[in-house]
Amino acid sequence: MRLDRFICKHTEHSHQTSRRLVASGHVMVNGETATDPRRLIDAFSTIQLDGQLLQQQQAHYFMLNKPAGYLSATSDPEHPTVLELLPAPLRPLLHIAGRLDRATTGLLLLTNDGHWSRRVTAPEHKTPKVYHVTTAEPISVEAESCFQAGIWLAREGVMTSPAQLQRLGLRECRLTIYEGRHHQVKRMFAAIGNEVTQLHRESMGEIRLESTLLPGSCRCLTEAEYRSA
Ligand code: URA
Repeated sequence: MRLDRFICKHTEHSHQTSRRLVASGHVMVNGETATDPRRLIDAFSTIQLDGQLLQQQQAHYFMLNKPAGYLSATSDPEHPTVLELLPAPLRPLLHIAGRLDRATTGLLLLTNDGHWSRRVTAPEHKTPKVYHVTTAEPISVEAESCFQAGIWLAREGVMTSPAQLQRLGLRECRLTIYEGRHHQVKRMFAAIGNEVTQLHRESMGEIRLESTLLPGSCRCLTEAEYRSA
C-alpha cells in the first residue's frame, strides 16, 4: 500500500492532508523520515506520524522439523497440531506455508507473512520440494521416466509437472516435485502401483531442513533463507 493512503486510512486526515504530511517530513518508516507519499509499505513496516506509532508488527519465519503424528493444522480436537511445537505467544499469529500429511516428517515452514507464504506455495512460482521417499515395493526402472513425463491425477483432471526421481536404493529415492497437490507424492507412487511407507521433506526451494534440528524443534529462518523465497 502507498504511504499516503496508509496515513489517510489510519488517521482522521484527508488524502490530500496525508500526502502533505508525508511530503513535509512528519512521517517515519522503519525509524527514518519518509517524504515520498507514493512509497510502498507493507504490514511489517513500522509507521510513525509525529512520533505516534500507527503500525508495528514483526514478521516471523520458522522452520520446523515436523515429527510424525502431528497435523498440519492450527487446531484439531483429536490430534496434536504442529502449532503446539512453536513458541506459545506466536501460535495465534502463524500459519503453515505448504502442509504435510500427518505421517510425513521433515521441513515445515511457518510464518505470519501472508505474501511470503503465497510466494512459497504459489504453483506458478514452481518452488522445488525435495522428498526422501521409502516405498513398500521395489521402485521400478520406469518410475524415473514416468514421473518425468507426468502422472495423470484423475481427481483434478491434470498431469503432474515433470518431477525428478533419484534412486537411492531398492525401495528408496529422492523425489523433486514443483507443485503441492493433496497427497501428491503418495498418489504419484500409487499411480505406478507402489505405496509410500515413509515420506520426509528435505527442502523447499533454497531452504534445507537443518540437519541438527531434532524432530519437534524449530528455529527462525536466517535472513538469507527467507529472502530466497
Ligand atoms: N505428498 C504427500 O503425499 N504427502 C505429503 O505430506 C507431502 C507430499
